[in-house]
Amino acid sequence: MHSSQNFPQEALPTLLSSYHDFVKKRLLPIDLSVVRGPFGNFLPQLESLRNEARSERLFAPHLSTEDGGVGLSLVQFAQVSEILGQSPIGHYVFNCQAPDIGNMELLQSFGSVVQKETWLKPLQEGKIRSCFAMTEPEHAGSNPVHLSTVAVREGDYFRIDGHKWFTTAADGAAFAIVMAVTNPEADSRYHRASMILVPLDTPGFELIRNIPIMGEAGENYLSHAEIKFENCLVPVENLIGAEGQGFALAQERLGPGRIHHCMRWIGICERAFDMMCQRAVTRQLDQGKPLADKQTIQNWIAESRAGIKASRLMVLDTAEKMQQLGARAVREDISTIKFFVADVLMKVIDRAIQVHGALGITDDTLLSFWYRHERGARIYDGPDEVHKSALARSILKSYGSDTR
Ligand SMILES: Cc1cc2nc3c(=O)[nH]c(=O)nc-3n(C[C@H](O)[C@H](O)[C@H](O)COP(=O)(O)OP(=O)(O)OC[C@H]3O[C@@H](n4cnc5c(N)ncnc54)[C@H](O)[C@@H]3O)c2cc1C
Repeated sequence: MHSSQNFPQEALPTLLSSYHDFVKKRLLPIDLSVVRGPFGNFLPQLESLRNEARSERLFAPHLSTEDGGVGLSLVQFAQVSEILGQSPIGHYVFNCQAPDIGNMELLQSFGSVVQKETWLKPLQEGKIRSCFAMTEPEHAGSNPVHLSTVAVREGDYFRIDGHKWFTTAADGAAFAIVMAVTNPEADSRYHRASMILVPLDTPGFELIRNIPIMGEAGENYLSHAEIKFENCLVPVENLIGAEGQGFALAQERLGPGRIHHCMRWIGICERAFDMMCQRAVTRQLDQGKPLADKQTIQNWIAESRAGIKASRLMVLDTAEKMQQLGARAVREDISTIKFFVADVLMKVIDRAIQVHGALGITDDTLLSFWYRHERGARIYDGPDEVHKSALARSILKSYGSDTR
C-alpha cells in the first residue's frame, strides 16, 4: 500500500454503502450463474462491470488515487474487502483479487522504475493478470526454504529451471513472480532465494495443466496451475529487490495478504449466515413449525454470529496495528487470525449446508462452491498447524522456552 493512502475517514460510511449497493444490485443477482462457469464466458461482462466501477469511482479501492484507485488505508480497505467477499466475483470486479493484489503491493514497494511502468501499471489498470510461483510439488510448501527452482546468472540474464504447482491464476497471466534459488551458498537458508519477474511468453515457460480441485478443472482466474521453467532466460533487471531477499519480500507480501483473505472470508461467512437464517425460518418441518424452532439450529446461528463477530474484531485490530507498526510487529496476531478465521469460515459454511439439507450440497446455491473453493483456506498462506505452532512458540518464549 502507498503511504499516501489518504481517503477521508468521515467519508468512509458513504463509500461503504456505495460498495454494498453495487454488490447487492449488480453482483448478487448474477454470481451463482458466473461460478457455474466456464469463468471465461464471464470476461466480457467482467469488463463492463469494471467500467461501471470505474465510473462510480469505486475501482481498485486498495490503490492510491495517483495510481487510479480510491486511496484506502489497509484498515479502510479491510472493511471494503468484507463487503466484496459476499460475492465470489466481488474482488475480481474491483481488481483487488489475490494473487494480483499481493503482486501489486510487492511491486509498488520493491519494484524498479521499469518494472512499475511495464508490469505494475497495466496490472493496476486491470489490463493484465499475474501469478505468484513459490510452492513446488517435490518439497513441503509449509517450509518453503527448500526449493529446487534455480536462477543461474549467465551474463545479463538469469537462466531459470524449475517446477512449481498451485500457481493460482497462472492460466492467462502475463507474468509470474517466481521464487528461485540464486545464492545456494548463502550462510542463512533464508538468504538463498530471490524473486524474479518472468513474463509468461518467455520461451521455456510451460503451463503443464490446471490442477483439478474438488472435481473442478479450474481455468483463468480460478486456475491453480502446475508449471515448468526450462532454460527460461530473463534479463537480470527482472530481479525484484536484491539477490537473496526472496524470503524477506515474501513475508512483506503475505502480511497484508492475510488481512485481505480474512476479511474476504468474513464476507463469505456473512452471506452463508444470511442463507442459513433464511432457510431456517422458511423450511417447514411439520404443522407450520420451521427449522428455526430447533435448538440445534439456534445454537449454530448463535455460534456462527459469535465467531463472525470475534473474527471481524480480531482482523480489524490486527490491521490497525499493522498499519501503525508494520507487518513484522504483528506476527503473532497474523498467525492468530489466519487459523482462527479459516476455522470460523469452515464451520459457518458447513452449518449453512447442513441447514439446507440435500439442497446444500447441490450447485443450486453458492454454498457448495464455497465448500470446494474455501477448504484451501486452512492450507494456503500457511497451514493451520504452522500458524498455531508459530504462535505458541512465540508465546512460550516469554516463559523461557526455546522450542524450535
Ligand atoms: C487454493 C490454494 C492456492 C494456492 N496458491 C498458491 C500460489 O498462488 N502460489 C504458491 O506458490 N503456492 C500456492 N499454494 C500452495 C500453498 O502455499 C501450500 O499448499 C502451503 O504452503 C502448504 O504446503 P504443502 O501443500 O506443500 O503442504 P506440506 O508442506 O506438505 O504440509 C502438509 C501438511 O502437513 C502439516 N504440517 C506442515 N508443517 C507443519 C508443522 N510445522 N507442524 C505441524 N504440522 C505441519 C499441515 O497439516 C499441512 O497441511 C496454494 C495452495 C492452495 C490450497
